[in-house]
Amino acid sequence: MAKRDYYEVLGVSKSASEDEIKKAYRKLSKKFHPDINKADDADQKFKEVTEAYEVLSDSQKRAAYDQYGHASTDPNFGAGGGFGGGGFGGFTGGFDDIFDTFFGGGGRSRNANAPRQGADLQYRVHLKFEEAIFGKKETIRYSREEECVTCHGSGAKPGTEPRTCSKCHGAGAVQVERNTPFGRVMTQAACDVCNGTGKEIISKCNDCHGSGHVESTHSVNVTIPAGVEDGQQLRLAGQGEVGRNGGPYGDLYVVFAVEESDIFDRDGAEIFYVLPIPFVHAALGTEVEVPTVHGNVKLKIPAGTQTGTTFRLKGKGAPRLRGTTNGDQHVKVTIVTPKNLTDEQKDALRTFAEVSGDHLSEDSSGFFDKMRDAFKKG
Ligand SMILES: [Zn+2]
Ligand SMILES: [Zn+2]
Repeated sequence: MAKRDYYEVLGVSKSASEDEIKKAYRKLSKKFHPDINKADDADQKFKEVTEAYEVLSDSQKRAAYDQYGHASTDPNFGAGGGFGGGGFGGFTGGFDDIFDTFFGGGGRSRNANAPRQGADLQYRVHLKFEEAIFGKKETIRYSREEECVTCHGSGAKPGTEPRTCSKCHGAGAVQVERNTPFGRVMTQAACDVCNGTGKEIISKCNDCHGSGHVESTHSVNVTIPAGVEDGQQLRLAGQGEVGRNGGPYGDLYVVFAVEESDIFDRDGAEIFYVLPIPFVHAALGTEVEVPTVHGNVKLKIPAGTQTGTTFRLKGKGAPRLRGTTNGDQHVKVTIVTPKNLTDEQKDALRTFAEVSGDHLSEDSSGFFDKMRDAFKKG
Protein backbone atom coordinates (compact mmCIF):
# COMPACT_ATOMS: atom_id res chain seq x y z
CA MET A 1 0.00 0.00 0.00
CA ALA A 2 1.30 3.44 -0.91
CA LYS A 3 2.25 5.54 2.09
CA ARG A 4 0.18 8.65 2.62
CA ASP A 5 1.81 12.02 2.64
CA TYR A 6 2.79 12.94 6.21
CA TYR A 7 1.26 16.41 5.96
CA GLU A 8 -1.96 14.86 4.75
CA VAL A 9 -1.91 12.34 7.61
CA LEU A 10 -1.72 15.14 10.18
CA GLY A 11 -4.07 17.36 8.20
CA VAL A 12 -1.71 20.33 8.11
CA SER A 13 -0.28 22.43 5.28
CA LYS A 14 3.31 22.06 4.03
CA SER A 15 4.12 25.39 5.65
CA ALA A 16 2.67 24.44 9.04
CA SER A 17 4.58 25.70 12.07
CA GLU A 18 6.02 23.36 14.70
CA ASP A 19 3.18 24.36 16.97
CA GLU A 20 0.49 23.54 14.43
CA ILE A 21 2.08 20.14 13.83
CA LYS A 22 2.23 19.42 17.55
CA LYS A 23 -1.41 20.42 18.03
CA ALA A 24 -2.57 18.31 15.10
CA TYR A 25 -0.64 15.34 16.47
CA ARG A 26 -2.07 15.72 19.99
CA LYS A 27 -5.59 15.82 18.63
CA LEU A 28 -5.20 12.84 16.28
CA SER A 29 -3.18 10.65 18.65
CA LYS A 30 -5.93 11.04 21.27
CA LYS A 31 -8.58 10.25 18.68
CA PHE A 32 -6.92 7.07 17.45
CA HIS A 33 -5.23 5.83 20.63
CA PRO A 34 -5.92 2.06 20.81
CA ASP A 35 -6.86 2.35 24.48
CA ILE A 36 -9.62 4.80 23.60
CA ASN A 37 -10.64 4.03 20.04
CA LYS A 38 -11.81 0.45 19.57
CA ALA A 39 -12.30 0.61 15.78
CA ASP A 40 -10.39 -2.03 13.83
CA ASP A 41 -8.20 0.43 11.97
CA ALA A 42 -7.61 2.77 14.93
CA ASP A 43 -4.33 1.12 15.75
CA GLN A 44 -3.12 1.44 12.16
CA LYS A 45 -4.16 5.11 12.05
CA PHE A 46 -2.47 5.77 15.35
CA LYS A 47 0.80 4.35 14.04
CA GLU A 48 0.50 6.38 10.86
CA VAL A 49 -0.06 9.58 12.83
CA THR A 50 2.83 8.84 15.19
CA GLU A 51 5.17 8.09 12.30
CA ALA A 52 4.17 11.31 10.52
CA TYR A 53 4.71 13.28 13.70
CA GLU A 54 8.11 11.76 14.38
CA VAL A 55 9.33 13.02 11.04
CA LEU A 56 7.57 16.39 10.80
CA SER A 57 8.31 17.39 14.40
CA ASP A 58 12.03 17.10 13.74
CA SER A 59 13.38 19.94 11.63
CA GLN A 60 16.17 17.88 10.07
CA LYS A 61 13.94 14.93 9.23
CA ARG A 62 11.26 17.29 7.98
CA ALA A 63 13.69 19.07 5.67
CA ALA A 64 14.85 15.71 4.30
CA TYR A 65 11.28 14.57 3.88
CA ASP A 66 10.34 17.75 2.02
CA GLN A 67 13.20 17.14 -0.36
CA TYR A 68 13.25 13.36 -0.79
CA GLY A 69 9.80 12.19 0.35
CA HIS A 70 9.34 8.86 2.08
CA ALA A 71 12.73 7.65 0.87
CA SER A 72 14.30 9.95 3.46
CA THR A 73 12.82 7.88 6.30
CA ASP A 74 14.59 4.72 5.18
CA PRO A 75 17.09 3.90 7.95
CA ASN A 76 19.83 3.50 5.36
CA PHE A 77 19.07 6.74 3.68
CA GLY A 78 21.18 9.20 5.68
CA ALA A 79 24.14 6.91 6.12
CA GLY A 80 24.26 5.93 2.50
CA GLY A 81 24.86 9.39 1.18
CA GLY A 82 22.61 12.00 -0.29
CA PHE A 83 22.59 13.40 3.17
CA GLY A 84 26.27 14.16 3.59
CA GLY A 85 27.09 11.07 5.63
CA GLY A 86 28.68 8.99 2.87
CA GLY A 87 32.08 10.63 2.86
CA PHE A 88 32.62 9.97 6.53
CA GLY A 89 31.59 6.34 6.56
CA GLY A 90 34.76 5.16 8.24
CA PHE A 91 34.67 7.61 11.08
CA THR A 92 34.53 5.60 14.30
CA GLY A 93 32.51 8.14 16.22
CA GLY A 94 29.45 6.88 14.38
CA PHE A 95 27.06 8.53 12.07
CA ASP A 96 25.06 10.18 14.84
CA ASP A 97 28.08 12.08 16.06
CA ILE A 98 28.84 13.37 12.61
CA PHE A 99 25.23 14.27 12.17
CA ASP A 100 25.19 16.21 15.40
CA THR A 101 28.41 17.98 14.58
CA PHE A 102 27.35 19.26 11.21
CA PHE A 103 23.67 19.74 11.70
CA GLY A 104 23.64 21.19 15.18
CA GLY A 105 22.22 18.12 16.85
CA GLY A 106 18.62 19.04 16.21
CA GLY A 107 17.74 15.47 15.44
CA ARG A 108 18.36 13.50 18.54
CA SER A 109 17.98 16.01 21.32
CA ARG A 110 14.54 17.10 20.20
CA ASN A 111 13.49 13.48 19.87
CA ALA A 112 14.18 12.90 23.54
CA ASN A 113 11.16 15.07 24.31
CA ALA A 114 8.87 13.48 21.75
CA PRO A 115 6.32 10.87 22.80
CA ARG A 116 7.62 7.39 22.12
CA GLN A 117 5.75 4.12 22.08
CA GLY A 118 6.70 1.62 24.80
CA ALA A 119 8.59 -1.59 24.08
CA ASP A 120 6.83 -4.62 22.61
CA LEU A 121 6.80 -7.78 24.72
CA GLN A 122 6.56 -11.45 23.86
CA TYR A 123 4.74 -14.17 25.80
CA ARG A 124 4.83 -17.89 24.98
CA VAL A 125 1.67 -19.91 25.47
CA HIS A 126 2.02 -23.71 25.50
CA LEU A 127 -0.93 -25.54 23.99
CA LYS A 128 -1.80 -29.21 23.84
CA PHE A 129 -2.45 -30.60 20.35
CA GLU A 130 -6.25 -30.50 20.82
CA GLU A 131 -6.22 -27.05 22.47
CA ALA A 132 -4.65 -25.57 19.34
CA ILE A 133 -7.36 -27.17 17.23
CA PHE A 134 -10.33 -26.08 19.29
CA GLY A 135 -8.96 -22.83 20.73
CA LYS A 136 -9.41 -21.71 24.33
CA LYS A 137 -9.60 -18.72 26.58
CA GLU A 138 -6.66 -18.11 28.84
CA THR A 139 -5.64 -15.43 31.30
CA ILE A 140 -1.96 -14.70 31.06
CA ARG A 141 0.09 -12.85 33.66
CA TYR A 142 3.40 -11.19 33.06
CA SER A 143 5.59 -8.43 34.35
CA ARG A 144 5.73 -5.13 32.48
CA GLU A 145 6.49 -1.47 33.05
CA GLU A 146 3.36 0.55 33.64
CA GLU A 147 2.60 4.15 34.29
CA CYS A 148 3.01 4.93 38.00
CA VAL A 149 -0.49 5.42 39.41
CA THR A 150 0.73 7.61 42.25
CA CYS A 151 2.14 10.37 40.04
CA HIS A 152 0.36 9.48 36.78
CA GLY A 153 3.68 9.13 35.05
CA SER A 154 5.04 12.57 35.86
CA GLY A 155 7.63 11.23 38.33
CA ALA A 156 6.88 14.08 40.72
CA LYS A 157 5.49 13.65 44.24
CA PRO A 158 1.70 14.15 44.26
CA GLY A 159 0.97 17.84 44.75
CA THR A 160 4.20 18.89 43.07
CA GLU A 161 5.01 19.40 39.40
CA PRO A 162 8.16 18.74 37.44
CA ARG A 163 9.74 22.11 36.63
CA THR A 164 11.73 23.29 33.67
CA CYS A 165 15.25 21.90 33.87
CA SER A 166 17.63 24.33 35.54
CA LYS A 167 20.62 23.23 33.43
CA CYS A 168 19.22 23.10 29.90
CA HIS A 169 16.24 25.39 30.47
CA GLY A 170 13.91 22.86 28.97
CA ALA A 171 15.82 22.21 25.76
CA GLY A 172 16.78 18.71 26.85
CA ALA A 173 20.23 19.19 25.36
CA VAL A 174 23.38 21.04 26.32
CA GLN A 175 26.37 22.26 24.31
CA VAL A 176 29.47 20.17 24.81
CA GLU A 177 32.97 20.84 23.55
CA ARG A 178 34.34 17.79 21.81
CA ASN A 179 37.59 16.85 20.12
CA THR A 180 37.08 15.33 16.68
CA PRO A 181 39.41 14.55 13.77
CA PHE A 182 38.25 17.92 12.39
CA GLY A 183 39.36 19.85 15.43
CA ARG A 184 37.56 21.11 18.48
CA VAL A 185 33.85 21.57 17.87
CA MET A 186 30.80 22.39 19.90
CA THR A 187 28.19 19.67 19.75
CA GLN A 188 24.98 18.97 21.53
CA ALA A 189 24.46 16.17 24.00
CA ALA A 190 21.45 15.08 26.03
CA CYS A 191 21.26 17.06 29.28
CA ASP A 192 22.49 14.95 32.19
CA VAL A 193 20.26 16.62 34.77
CA CYS A 194 16.95 15.85 33.05
CA ASN A 195 18.12 13.00 30.77
CA GLY A 196 16.94 14.96 27.79
CA THR A 197 13.39 15.42 28.93
CA GLY A 198 13.77 19.14 29.64
CA LYS A 199 12.02 18.67 32.97
CA GLU A 200 13.59 18.47 36.39
CA ILE A 201 11.84 16.73 39.24
CA ILE A 202 12.56 18.33 42.60
CA SER A 203 10.43 16.09 44.85
CA LYS A 204 10.48 12.63 43.38
CA CYS A 205 7.50 10.36 43.63
CA ASN A 206 8.16 7.73 46.33
CA ASP A 207 6.70 4.89 44.33
CA CYS A 208 8.61 5.25 41.08
CA HIS A 209 11.58 7.30 42.31
CA GLY A 210 10.98 9.91 39.65
CA SER A 211 10.91 7.65 36.61
CA GLY A 212 7.13 7.85 36.18
CA HIS A 213 6.83 4.11 35.62
CA VAL A 214 6.84 1.01 37.77
CA GLU A 215 7.32 -2.70 37.15
CA SER A 216 4.11 -4.54 37.88
CA THR A 217 2.26 -7.76 37.15
CA HIS A 218 -0.27 -7.35 34.42
CA SER A 219 -2.89 -9.83 33.31
CA VAL A 220 -4.73 -10.10 30.01
CA ASN A 221 -7.54 -12.38 28.85
CA VAL A 222 -6.55 -13.99 25.58
CA THR A 223 -8.98 -15.73 23.26
CA ILE A 224 -6.88 -18.26 21.39
CA PRO A 225 -8.58 -18.86 18.04
CA ALA A 226 -9.39 -22.41 16.98
CA GLY A 227 -6.87 -23.74 14.48
CA VAL A 228 -3.69 -21.97 15.56
CA GLU A 229 -0.39 -23.60 14.69
CA ASP A 230 2.95 -23.94 16.36
CA GLY A 231 4.96 -20.71 16.02
CA GLN A 232 2.03 -18.49 15.09
CA GLN A 233 1.51 -15.32 17.08
CA LEU A 234 -1.23 -12.99 18.13
CA ARG A 235 -0.63 -9.25 18.58
CA LEU A 236 -2.41 -7.55 21.45
CA ALA A 237 -2.14 -3.81 20.89
CA GLY A 238 -1.29 -1.71 23.92
CA GLN A 239 -0.42 -4.67 26.19
CA GLY A 240 3.35 -4.07 26.03
CA GLU A 241 5.34 -1.62 28.13
CA VAL A 242 4.46 1.96 28.96
CA GLY A 243 5.51 4.63 26.46
CA ARG A 244 7.86 7.51 27.14
CA ASN A 245 6.86 11.17 27.31
CA GLY A 246 3.19 10.32 27.11
CA GLY A 247 3.61 7.97 24.14
CA PRO A 248 1.36 4.92 23.82
CA TYR A 249 2.01 1.48 25.31
CA GLY A 250 3.87 -1.07 23.17
CA ASP A 251 2.23 -4.28 21.98
CA LEU A 252 2.24 -7.83 23.34
CA TYR A 253 2.98 -10.70 20.98
CA VAL A 254 1.52 -13.98 22.19
CA VAL A 255 3.45 -16.82 20.54
CA PHE A 256 1.95 -20.33 20.47
CA ALA A 257 4.00 -23.44 21.16
CA VAL A 258 1.84 -26.42 20.21
CA GLU A 259 2.60 -29.91 21.55
CA GLU A 260 2.80 -32.81 19.13
CA SER A 261 0.27 -35.63 19.26
CA ASP A 262 1.14 -39.30 19.78
CA ILE A 263 -1.38 -40.40 17.18
CA PHE A 264 -1.91 -37.55 14.73
CA ASP A 265 0.24 -35.40 12.49
CA ARG A 266 -0.97 -32.00 11.44
CA ASP A 267 -0.19 -29.62 8.60
CA GLY A 268 -2.34 -26.52 8.78
CA ALA A 269 -5.95 -27.61 8.75
CA GLU A 270 -5.10 -31.13 7.48
CA ILE A 271 -4.64 -33.99 9.94
CA PHE A 272 -2.85 -37.25 9.10
CA TYR A 273 -3.36 -40.63 10.71
CA VAL A 274 -1.76 -44.02 9.97
CA LEU A 275 -4.16 -46.95 10.27
CA PRO A 276 -2.69 -50.46 10.66
CA ILE A 277 -4.94 -53.23 9.21
CA PRO A 278 -4.34 -57.01 9.38
CA PHE A 279 -3.73 -58.27 5.87
CA VAL A 280 -6.73 -60.60 5.88
CA HIS A 281 -9.05 -57.67 6.67
CA ALA A 282 -7.51 -55.61 3.91
CA ALA A 283 -7.94 -58.51 1.48
CA LEU A 284 -11.55 -59.27 2.42
CA GLY A 285 -12.71 -55.72 3.23
CA THR A 286 -13.92 -54.51 6.61
CA GLU A 287 -15.25 -51.58 8.58
CA VAL A 288 -13.07 -49.99 11.27
CA GLU A 289 -13.33 -47.25 13.86
CA VAL A 290 -10.82 -44.49 13.24
CA PRO A 291 -9.96 -41.92 15.91
CA THR A 292 -10.24 -38.24 14.92
CA VAL A 293 -9.94 -35.11 17.06
CA HIS A 294 -13.72 -34.87 16.74
CA GLY A 295 -14.31 -38.41 18.05
CA ASN A 296 -14.28 -41.88 16.49
CA VAL A 297 -15.52 -42.27 12.93
CA LYS A 298 -16.49 -45.48 11.06
CA LEU A 299 -14.47 -46.09 7.92
CA LYS A 300 -15.20 -48.74 5.25
CA ILE A 301 -12.09 -50.53 4.01
CA PRO A 302 -12.92 -52.05 0.62
CA ALA A 303 -11.75 -55.58 -0.21
CA GLY A 304 -8.31 -55.60 -1.81
CA THR A 305 -7.04 -52.43 -0.15
CA GLN A 306 -3.28 -52.05 -0.61
CA THR A 307 -0.80 -50.71 1.87
CA GLY A 308 -0.30 -46.97 1.35
CA THR A 309 -3.89 -46.35 0.24
CA THR A 310 -5.20 -43.09 1.72
CA PHE A 311 -8.81 -42.38 2.67
CA ARG A 312 -10.17 -38.91 3.29
CA LEU A 313 -12.51 -38.12 6.19
CA LYS A 314 -14.03 -34.84 5.06
CA GLY A 315 -14.26 -32.07 7.63
CA LYS A 316 -12.51 -34.09 10.33
CA GLY A 317 -9.37 -31.96 10.31
CA ALA A 318 -8.58 -28.72 12.17
CA PRO A 319 -10.54 -25.50 11.60
CA ARG A 320 -9.14 -23.17 8.95
CA LEU A 321 -8.00 -19.99 10.70
CA ARG A 322 -9.39 -17.80 7.93
CA GLY A 323 -12.69 -19.39 7.06
CA THR A 324 -15.57 -21.32 8.52
CA THR A 325 -14.76 -24.86 7.42
CA ASN A 326 -12.51 -27.61 8.70
CA GLY A 327 -9.72 -29.36 6.88
CA ASP A 328 -9.85 -33.14 6.35
CA GLN A 329 -8.33 -36.12 8.10
CA HIS A 330 -6.23 -38.31 5.83
CA VAL A 331 -6.10 -41.96 6.82
CA LYS A 332 -3.20 -43.91 5.37
CA VAL A 333 -3.52 -47.68 5.49
CA THR A 334 -0.57 -49.84 6.37
CA ILE A 335 -1.00 -53.60 6.03
CA VAL A 336 0.23 -55.65 8.98
CA THR A 337 1.91 -58.96 8.20
CA PRO A 338 1.20 -61.50 10.97
CA LYS A 339 4.02 -62.73 13.19
CA ASN A 340 4.37 -65.82 15.44
CA LEU A 341 1.91 -67.95 13.46
CA THR A 342 0.65 -71.22 14.92
CA ASP A 343 1.06 -74.43 12.90
CA GLU A 344 -2.61 -74.33 12.11
CA GLN A 345 -2.35 -70.77 10.73
CA LYS A 346 0.69 -71.71 8.69
CA ASP A 347 -1.14 -74.66 7.19
CA ALA A 348 -4.03 -72.40 6.31
CA LEU A 349 -1.68 -69.98 4.57
CA ARG A 350 0.06 -72.77 2.70
CA THR A 351 -3.28 -73.99 1.53
CA PHE A 352 -4.13 -70.45 0.49
CA ALA A 353 -0.90 -70.24 -1.48
CA GLU A 354 -1.54 -73.56 -3.20
CA VAL A 355 -5.07 -72.54 -4.14
CA SER A 356 -3.68 -69.23 -5.45
CA GLY A 357 -1.11 -71.10 -7.57
CA ASP A 358 1.86 -69.65 -5.66
CA HIS A 359 4.78 -72.06 -5.51
CA LEU A 360 6.36 -71.75 -2.06
CA SER A 361 10.09 -72.47 -1.83
CA GLU A 362 11.52 -75.04 0.58
CA ASP A 363 12.66 -72.17 2.84
CA SER A 364 9.32 -70.56 3.35
CA SER A 365 7.46 -73.85 3.67
CA GLY A 366 9.36 -75.13 6.62
CA PHE A 367 13.16 -75.10 6.21
CA PHE A 368 13.66 -73.00 9.33
CA ASP A 369 11.17 -75.06 11.28
CA LYS A 370 13.18 -78.15 10.47
CA MET A 371 16.43 -76.46 11.53
CA ARG A 372 14.89 -75.38 14.80
CA ASP A 373 13.61 -78.89 15.46
CA ALA A 374 17.07 -80.29 14.71
CA PHE A 375 18.67 -77.95 17.27
CA LYS A 376 16.09 -78.82 19.89
CA LYS A 377 16.90 -82.49 19.54
CA GLY A 378 20.62 -81.78 19.82
ZN1 LIG B 1 5.41 7.86 40.48
ZN1 LIG C 1 18.04 19.42 31.34
